[in-house]
Amino acid sequence: MEYRFLGKTGIRVSRLCFGLLTMGPLQASLPLAEGVAVLKYAVEQGVNFFDTAELYESYSYLRELLRSFPGRELIIATKSYAVTAKEMEKSLEKARRELDRDYIDIFLLHEQESALTIRGHRAALDYLLEAKEKGLVRAVGISTHRIAGVRGALEFPEIDVIHPLFNIKGLGIHDGTRQEMEDLLTEAAAAAAGKGIYLMKALGGGNLLPQAREALEFAFSRPFAAAVAVGMKAPWEVDINVLAAQGLPIPDQLEKLISSEKRRLHIDPWCEGCGKCAERCSQGALFLGDDGKAHVREEECLLCGYCAAACPFFYIKVY
Ligand code: SF4
Ligand code: SF4
Repeated sequence: MEYRFLGKTGIRVSRLCFGLLTMGPLQASLPLAEGVAVLKYAVEQGVNFFDTAELYESYSYLRELLRSFPGRELIIATKSYAVTAKEMEKSLEKARRELDRDYIDIFLLHEQESALTIRGHRAALDYLLEAKEKGLVRAVGISTHRIAGVRGALEFPEIDVIHPLFNIKGLGIHDGTRQEMEDLLTEAAAAAAGKGIYLMKALGGGNLLPQAREALEFAFSRPFAAAVAVGMKAPWEVDINVLAAQGLPIPDQLEKLISSEKRRLHIDPWCEGCGKCAERCSQGALFLGDDGKAHVREEECLLCGYCAAACPFFYIKVY
């Protein structure tokens, strides 16, 4: 496994970052022991970097992992939607308590859209900066799906880390092109700004699984990315991503496993019913139900993923 420093934070991370959303209750909902076994397997393959969020409700898996490797430097990144200092204090204390750890390596403001949004979270950010001074947090940052979010982070020298959405097709980037995002991330990672960058949604929320090899190769070969977070729930997925992180070929047999996975369209229960996905689907497979949320007629869905790219909130995934 190759390791890189995350910007100027002094934190050294494996190029493969283990994303916890996939195994947690919002997706696969793996039993605790099963999830921990996959995490331990990843550590044995050299992974030392784990990305979660308060929203993912997955601290219990990581707590057990940390207990399994006392003394090993495992890097935990988490995020919160906290806006006020009080809310952020609650989020940080929850993370420290549930992970049973005195400090959190990387704490992010979750889903920041622009400089304006970051300013709106100023009190929460200031709380994190104070926590950093006290040694409770080692680095602070933002996660974002938007080019404007990355641009916003560049206005704040105190932001150490950016966790942006980025993939080979630019799926989910709604305020510009993949190339524009790539140019900005290159600027953010350059010495002058010195932000530590680790990517999310390299597989487009599952929509790029049919071209997983190409999508992973693309993400891991971006020079601006210290690491790439990929959601995993089984050891064979760890094997694939560990190979991809090292730039090694993925055997056909493993690639077939990915393409043979039964996949379906998943619409998050917090869908806001804006209807943009239904407008985008030329198959007429999506509709707004009486509950005001989007639903799919599975028999008409081609799993093309266009609706996922149309959802402004990234609430649609294929997995
Ligand atoms: S994946 Fe494609 S076919 Fe299926 S609902 Fe979305 S846009 Fe329609
Ligand atoms: S585009 Fe997203 S938020 Fe809007 S209806 Fe579809 S799933 Fe819901």
